[in-house]
Amino acid sequence: MKRAQLVFIPTPGMGHLASTLAFAKHLLDRDDRFSITVLIMKAAFAPTNHSLVQSIAASDTRVRFVHLPQVDPPPKELFFKSVEKFITEYVESYRSHVKEAIINHALSTSLPLAGLVVDLFCSSMIDVAHELGVPSYVFFTGNAAFFGFMLYLPTRHHQVGIEFRETDPESAIPSYVNPLPPGALPSLALNKEGGYISFVNHGRKYQEADGIIINTFSELESHAVSSFFNDGIPPIYTVGPMIDLKGKTHSGDNQAKQEIMKWLDDQPPSSVVFLCFGSRGSFVEPQLKETALGLERSGHRFLWSVRLPSRDDGLAKPTDAENLEEILPPAFLERTRGIGMICGWAPQVEVLAHKAIGGFVSHCGWNSILESLWHGVPIATWPLYAEQQTNAFQMVRDLGLAVELKINYRLGSGALVIAEEIEKAVKCLMEGDSEVRKRVKEMSEKSREAVIEGGSSYASLGRLIEAMMANVTVPARK
Ligand code: UDP
Repeated sequence: MKRAQLVFIPTPGMGHLASTLAFAKHLLDRDDRFSITVLIMKAAFAPTNHSLVQSIAASDTRVRFVHLPQVDPPPKELFFKSVEKFITEYVESYRSHVKEAIINHALSTSLPLAGLVVDLFCSSMIDVAHELGVPSYVFFTGNAAFFGFMLYLPTRHHQVGIEFRETDPESAIPSYVNPLPPGALPSLALNKEGGYISFVNHGRKYQEADGIIINTFSELESHAVSSFFNDGIPPIYTVGPMIDLKGKTHSGDNQAKQEIMKWLDDQPPSSVVFLCFGSRGSFVEPQLKETALGLERSGHRFLWSVRLPSRDDGLAKPTDAENLEEILPPAFLERTRGIGMICGWAPQVEVLAHKAIGGFVSHCGWNSILESLWHGVPIATWPLYAEQQTNAFQMVRDLGLAVELKINYRLGSGALVIAEEIEKAVKCLMEGDSEVRKRVKEMSEKSREAVIEGGSSYASLGRLIEAMMANVTVPARK
């Protein structure tokens, strides 16, 4: 049997590492001819959490980890000016270590190297692949429409030469059905401190890859996927949804999890609205008060993951709240006892799978969207950071798969979403027989069909594997 190896290069940080490892596992479960080496860059600030790496290293011999040395991160000030530029520069400074690791750990073995799999921020490693004469694949953790946005950036930059502005007219971007208003653009597109230009460069580099792997399915993003049938765009492989259904990757406190699941067991079917805002979502006190009032006035039961901003301006992750009585409106906890539950980090996938959940107020991170579609739970959109505004726009306007709470909200902007807006959106979200709910249920079935034999993503992953194996049967590129 012909065998081959792949080298995966994830961006440092738990979210990217988790998605990359999920894909590695997905690939290995489908085809045992591969072995995978994952190159681990150190996190720039916080000590790297290696528990996920250790558990996979212990349980799966087909995945090998190579820990790269620490490099000096760019100055901290750059992080506050543009997270995107900071990460891009940090990853770039790993280039020589990555090249050396590939030579020493992959090219020196007898197993042929079928390609590098680099994630979103690691487009500079496509150059390393060129230098070594090895094919490269981008593993894109966002969705297909946003990938189309990134492809559009260099074209637009060539014409306009400057970042987007809040006062710009709507932008017609091929991967979106409707023109995008500036409020729906990701913050990086407006960033003058290097965020925008970093993404222009990533978008340009992606076009030199041998393939693009996206965690989506063609039935969900048919418009975006068909916008790629164009000369010069590498083959696109839609291989999702890849969902960590056992919640292994993001497990939190086990006792808290049991209490949450027990509480949900006691609630009527489809009666609870779940509020949860991703790994970096947090709110200041005035916003938490408005949310509490909005929820109470909606009259619906709720499970609400409340997290507070870290004290170091966002370098560390948000923290769970300890003094809820002081933060929330007076007597809110008493009045909502039995109707609502507040938690910290939530076992999100298990919660969305629970029959008591009827709706999800979400920050629209792409994993959260896929998880909620999988379980047929409609979303009310409340984007916060990264590309979540674009995701919210696509879900509400392009796909009719979500209720609009906000599309243009940006974390840290100082804007307040008032109680009335939350009340109205939650009432609309929880309607039993809404058009959105019907469409979400249909998409849920399609998402499950996509990944089983005969499904679109199953077939797409098969094509990817064929292409990768073909790399080791033909002479390597010059
Ligand atoms: N998540 C979770 N509990 C929480 C918050 C998030 O389990 O309290 C998980 C969620 O299920 C998803 C991931 O963390 O798998 C968040 O990914 P997403 O792409 O939605 O957002 P990000 O954190 O990257 O902004």
